[in-house]
Amino acid sequence: MNVILLGPPGAGKGTQAKLLEQQRGLKQLSTGDMLRAAIAEGTALGRKVEAIIARGDLVPDDVVVGIIAERIRAKDCAKGFILDGFPRNVAQAEALDAMLSELGLKLDAVIELGVDENILIGRIEKRASETAGGPRADDNAEALKKRLAVYNEQTAPVAAYYRSRGVLRTVDGMADVETVNRQIGQVLDRARAA
Ligand code: AMP
Repeated sequence: MNVILLGPPGAGKGTQAKLLEQQRGLKQLSTGDMLRAAIAEGTALGRKVEAIIARGDLVPDDVVVGIIAERIRAKDCAKGFILDGFPRNVAQAEALDAMLSELGLKLDAVIELGVDENILIGRIEKRASETAGGPRADDNAEALKKRLAVYNEQTAPVAAYYRSRGVLRTVDGMADVETVNRQIGQVLDRARAA
C-alpha cells in the first residue's frame, strides 16, 4: 500500500509512520529525516538546505521531488511506502502524481491528522526539551511559527487537492498515540478492502 500522512509539524506523522512500518512492512519516507541526515553528513545537499530548514521555510521542490523519485523505486519500498512530510505543496503533489503514474503505482490513502494548533505548540516545545542530543534546529518558537504559517499557506491546499479527488481521510490527531494508530489502521483496512 502507498500512503500519505498529512498534518502540521508536531501532529505525530513521524510517530505514526514508524508504527505503520513495524505493523505493515511499509517503508517510512520522511523527507525531513533525509534532509537532516544530509546536513549531519555535511554533504553538498546538506549545506544547500541547512539555513532554509533552520528558519522553517520549504526547500526547493526539485530537491525533494528528486529524493522521493529515487526512493519510491527502491527495493525496500516493494511492499509500499508511507510519505511523511511530502508533498508539502500542490506542485509537489502534482509531481508525485506524475511519478506514480509513470511507475504504474497508485495512492491507497491520504490520511490527514487533524489537530488543534495551540496544543501543537506545546507538543513541539516538549519534543524540543526531550530530544537526546539537543533539540532540532527548527524546534524553537520562531521557526515553529514560521513552519505553521508555511503549513497553512502551502500544505493545507494539498489536503484540498486530495479531498477533491476523493482519497482524503481525516483522523483525530489529538487522541493518544494508540488511538490514532488504531484509526489509521481502520482507514488502511478499508482502503485495502475497497
Ligand atoms: P519535517 O521533519 O517534515 O518537519 O521537515 C523539516 C524541514 O525540512 C521543513 O520545515 C522543510 O524546511 C524541510 N522539508 C521537509 N520536507 C519537505 C518538502 N516535502 N518540501 C520542502 N521542504 C521540506
